[in-house]
Amino acid sequence: MPIYEYKAKDKENSCAYCKDSFEELQQLSAPSLTKCPRCKSPIVKIISAPSIGGSKSSFDDKAKNAGFHKLQKIGKGEYETKY
Ligand SMILES: [Zn+2]
Repeated sequence: MPIYEYKAKDKENSCAYCKDSFEELQQLSAPSLTKCPRCKSPIVKIISAPSIGGSKSSFDDKAKNAGFHKLQKIGKGEYETKY
């Protein structure tokens, strides 16, 4: 079961539980929570973006090490080999 993270929409009207954020174990098919299970104040789901293997430069390095060449367009129909 995935764990979803929620936090209070309105910090002023939230309890200690939902004030910053809390995690809720939910079925994939279960609807998102809209209220704090403790104080019933509105909450929002925090979308945590999955990390996709490092920065762009490290991808370039990997491609370079793997023997790929990167072509950069330098003008109309002209390409320059970067490495
Ligand atoms: Zn709460």
